[in-house]
Parts: sequence; C-alpha cells; structure tokens
Amino acid sequence: MKIPFNKPYLSGNETKYIEDAVKSGKISGNGKYTQLCQKFFEETYGFKKTLLTTSCTDALEMCAILADIKADDEVIVPSYTFVSSALAFVRQNAHIVFADSYQDNPNVDADKIENLITIKTKAIVVVHYAGIACDMEKIMQIAEKYNLIVIEDAAQAIDSYYTFSDGTRKPLGGIGHFGAFSFHETKNIISGEGGMLTINDSRFADRAEIIWEKGTNRSSFFRGEINKYGWVDTGSSFLPSEIISAFLWAQLENIEDIQEKRLGIWNKYYEGLKCNDKITLPIIPEYATNNAHMFYIVCKDLDFRSKLIAKLKENDILAVFHYLSLHKSDFYTQNHDDRDLPNSDRFEDCLLRLPLFYELTDEQQQKIIDLINKF
Ligand SMILES: *Cc1c(COP(=O)(O)O)cnc(C)c1O
Repeated sequence: MKIPFNKPYLSGNETKYIEDAVKSGKISGNGKYTQLCQKFFEETYGFKKTLLTTSCTDALEMCAILADIKADDEVIVPSYTFVSSALAFVRQNAHIVFADSYQDNPNVDADKIENLITIKTKAIVVVHYAGIACDMEKIMQIAEKYNLIVIEDAAQAIDSYYTFSDGTRKPLGGIGHFGAFSFHETKNIISGEGGMLTINDSRFADRAEIIWEKGTNRSSFFRGEINKYGWVDTGSSFLPSEIISAFLWAQLENIEDIQEKRLGIWNKYYEGLKCNDKITLPIIPEYATNNAHMFYIVCKDLDFRSKLIAKLKENDILAVFHYLSLHKSDFYTQNHDDRDLPNSDRFEDCLLRLPLFYELTDEQQQKIIDLINKF
C-alpha cells in the first residue's frame, strides 16, 4: 500500500457541525462557529484578538494593510519560505529584502537581520519553520530599536511556544504585532482552506475588524455599538463562511489528541534516525517547543537527496523536498540582482520532509525509518 506524504485527518464531528451550520440558516461569516473558534484561540493561547480568515495568505494581506505598507517601503522576509510570506507585501508594492537562514536551522538568522535594515524598512516577517520558533526575543529587540512592525507567519506554528530569557513563555503568533496562521489541509489543524489573524497590539484591533468586513463597520453594528453601518476604510472579504468554521471547530475540539498523536510520530522518527550519520535531524533550540508540524531530515547534498527520494518512491513512499529560495524565483529575479543566501539555498537542495499524518501507522513508519537507515 502506498504511503502518501500527507492525509487530511477528520476528527469526528466535522460533517455534523457543518450540517448544524447549514440547518441553522446562517452560513455566511462571523456566526456561531466563527465566534466559538475565535473564543477558543483567545482563551487557550491568550491571543488578545483573533479573526478567522479564508487562508493564511489572506491573514498576511491583512497584516500588510494594517501595517500600512506603501510603495517603496522595505520589508525583510526570509528567503526560505512559502510565496505568501512575501506576496502579501509585494501587492502593496513594497520592496522585499530577503534574509538568510541559520546554517543549521531553516529559520531566519536573527543576527543577520540588523544589517538589512535601512531608513526605508517598515516591517520584518518571520516564519516559524516546521512550527519551531525563530529567536523572537532578539527579533523583537531589533524591531523596537528601529520602530518596525513584526509579522509572524505562524502558518505552521499552531500550539507552539517561545520562552524568553526571563522565563515567560508566549505562544507563537502572539509575540509580534500580528500573527498569521493556516488551516490548509497540510497543516496540523485543518479546514480545507482557512486561516487566522492574531492582533497582539490592541491599537490595530478596531481597524482589523473593518478591513476584515469589506471596509465597513459591520462588526460594531452587530454588537449594537452603532445604529447603522457603512464604508469607512479599505478592506476586502477576508472572513470564512460558517461552513468552514464549523469544520474547524470540530478539529479544535480534538486538538490535544491530534497534537499528541503527531508528537508520537515525530519522536519515533527522531529516535529511529538519530544514529544515522549520513543525515542531519532538526534542531529545536532551548527557547522553542516542537508542535510536530513536520519531520524533516537534511541530506549532505542534492544528489543524495534525489536518490533517497527515488528509493523511497520505489517503495511506494512519498517524501518531498520543500521551498525553492524566493530570492532566486523567476518573479523576483525579473527586477532584482542576484543575492547570495547560501543557507537558504542549501535547505532548498538538501531538506527532505517525511510522511507525517495522524493515520500513519507504526508499521508504515518503521518501514520508512528502515529504508532510510539502510540507504
Ligand atoms: C502553508 C503556508 C502558508 C500559506 O497558507 P494558506 O493558508 O494556504 O494561505 C504561508 N506561509 C507558510 C510558512 C506556510 O507554511
């Protein structure tokens, strides 16, 4: 039997809650299920304000609007990430300045950020790769020093934390000014397509709601704060329908079980592969937790990785590489000179993701581990 790379997991009540939403007669956005989900996130993780969105890409676009990114502003973005982390700011005509990863960790190298700052820099985007925290204490200090907005692309980072040097622990997505999460079917907690914006600086909270609801003050109207609503700002339709939120609510009811299961799989890979000296395993810095979003290995070179992918494929196992450095993309190089970001390029060539999903069996996993160790 084939072992896919990912298999979306249904935790039980998804279709029941969708049916309930449909039968309730309220299936557009910001109804019962949207509010249940937002309340869950605010209470469980202590996020000041959350708004569900139709994707993480959307949530990032809201960040770009809220941060007031304008033409020719500079935004620092890691090169080793998904297109959306940069695209949201490109749409505001910002100039993207790409940053490199650490040598031994795909996350942005916090010590290399300050050199990229100019008088035009407006924001820093950080990506918590594989749900493992970037060095947020350092990054927030730099942002404060230069008065910059920090946007956490926390697409992969649900239920993961950063510990500051004074011992305080904060959830990822709750540290910068904004956080953007994804519930795409490839993430830990899913709704097909889906996302969430966290607003951690309350100065932006009211405007966020307006941008979310097509530039209108409809949310205040429904809370009874004003007696008519109208067009007050820019915005778009960023909110998901209740059908999506109902699905998400069923997932959130089972978040502990889902996370425990994924962590078990992650740990089995780690134990099974840690003595293999031909590959390198993920590093989890002391300040970070592991939410088991992804299990990746780093191969010694592209050739080794290609042959390993082929070997696994022969055995009906789908393991996949990940990002192509954005600074070398067709789109970016049309208008920009070559930059040298060697660590990002190495992860492009050498990083390999192994199957990790709720229903992956012990036997299947053992087969993958044995094949890699014998390779
Ligand atoms: C998945 C992902 C996104 C995009 O999420 P969508 O919900 O599909 O828009 C953005 N950034 C990162 C780092 C991701 O992993």
